[in-house]
Amino acid sequence: MQKIKKNAFLSQFMNDVDVAIVGGGPSGVVAAITIAKAGYKVAILDKKQRNKIGNKSCGDALDKVAPEIMKKELGIEFPHGKELPTPLDHLTFASLSLKNKLTAHTPAFIVHRLHYGQRLLKEAEQAGAEIIANAKVRDIIVENNQIVGLKYYNENGINEIRAKIVIDASGFVGVVRKMIPDQMKNGIVYEVPPEHTVATYREIIRLEKPHDFQKEIVLLYHEKIPIPGYAWIFTDGEYQLNIGVTWPKHIPYPQNKSLKDIYHEILDPMIDPASYTVKHKGGGQIPIRPPFDSLVFNGAMLVGEAGCLVDPTTAEGHGPSLLSGYKAGKAAIKALEIGDFTVNGLWSYNKDIMTYPGSTHAMSYQALQYLKSVGPKGMAFFLKRKIVSEEDLIEIFRTREFEFTLARKIRKVLQAFPRFDYMLKLKKTIQKVEYADQLYKSYPETPDGLQKWMDIRKKTLTDDY
Ligand SMILES: Cc1cc2nc3c(=O)[nH]c(=O)nc-3n(C[C@H](O)[C@H](O)[C@H](O)COP(=O)(O)OP(=O)(O)OC[C@H]3O[C@@H](n4cnc5c(N)ncnc54)[C@H](O)[C@@H]3O)c2cc1C
Repeated sequence: MQKIKKNAFLSQFMNDVDVAIVGGGPSGVVAAITIAKAGYKVAILDKKQRNKIGNKSCGDALDKVAPEIMKKELGIEFPHGKELPTPLDHLTFASLSLKNKLTAHTPAFIVHRLHYGQRLLKEAEQAGAEIIANAKVRDIIVENNQIVGLKYYNENGINEIRAKIVIDASGFVGVVRKMIPDQMKNGIVYEVPPEHTVATYREIIRLEKPHDFQKEIVLLYHEKIPIPGYAWIFTDGEYQLNIGVTWPKHIPYPQNKSLKDIYHEILDPMIDPASYTVKHKGGGQIPIRPPFDSLVFNGAMLVGEAGCLVDPTTAEGHGPSLLSGYKAGKAAIKALEIGDFTVNGLWSYNKDIMTYPGSTHAMSYQALQYLKSVGPKGMAFFLKRKIVSEEDLIEIFRTREFEFTLARKIRKVLQAFPRFDYMLKLKKTIQKVEYADQLYKSYPETPDGLQKWMDIRKKTLTDDY
């Protein structure tokens, strides 16, 4: 049997730390900055080496909304210098081919995940957070129905760290989430089945000449990829592109192909492989569903991908992770001030996150069901007829609100002739989208209202998550 040791530094403290965070990705590091700045004792445990924390195979696009909030609330500067390989100012949706497209001005960043992540890690450390690298969390410590710490593995064997609050920021794997005993889950299923997962493969390629996608990111809904999957072409500087594909995990790849085969089949006709060298290959899985119905437990919270905080349509998770780290940090501070680390004490995080970005993700999930039903061909029809306009896209991505006025409705119905079936389906979807928005914004103020809220959600929206 392995001996359990206490970390030499941490064992100086009575309760080790106020907050132990599993994972130093965007969600974990921002939670740490928020809590450490308030003067509480916080540690980030990450299985990676210190100088690799923050690195991730990613499309590297980061919407400006979350960095703007981080800057205002925490004084965190926007990505800059080597963290920002290229400016970005427009987003294109294309369907079937790059010819059927809609481009909108949406300010965002392409970030170098390692450099940006390392800077945030340093800011957490400067604020007083302890970084425990090479520490693989294996288990949680539960006493009297309350999570009170973690067991982690490093070169010394198995160690323990005790904390008043544990934050699961471990990404898709949700290492803490998976360990939570059933009696602490309020009947909620905390699993991410293949139907709610996309697999991804991407390469960073260097071309001989400046590419055609300067300051642009393109999401392409392709005939050969079932929605919610898509192909992407993102700028990564004048000569570099970050290109990839996502594929719904519950749908087998056709004819025993690999995702890499599909990637080449779709992207090679658009960007000739003879014209570039591959700088990096990678991939991963992304959860695509609205957040779990509750993200707090006695003694614990779920942030970032561990809580499924990813936009289900675009699979954008970096910004929501930063935001959820900040919001969980604020709730942890509140709980520490009043000395209540139970579900009650941490509940404000649920309310805050469901209002935004939870409501946006719930709306996006409803829209995604529509996209699935019309498929890439339906989307191409919409784009060709300009039923979705640049103005609509800007409204959705910049303000995160969308007002469907009567004039807009009439114009769109006329544009849809003769495919009124698309419009009828769209009408129903819009009702659901609007309802999802209201429902998540009226998330209960206290745990007592949760069961009723979940019953309404399952009945009115969908019960498949
Ligand atoms: C190929 C790909 C492309 C993507 N493209 C985009 C994009 O362009 N834009 C966008 O916004 N989002 C994108 N995403 C999603 C985005 O990368 C994630 O949503 C975001 O990084 C999630 O942040 P996080 O903090 O929740 O988790 P992560 O960034 O995954 O960080 C989790 C951390 O936890 C650590 N950890 C895990 N298990 C343990 C353990 N047992 N013990 C200790 N530490 C542990 C890991 O080492 C890691 O450092 C993409 C994802 C993939 C896979």
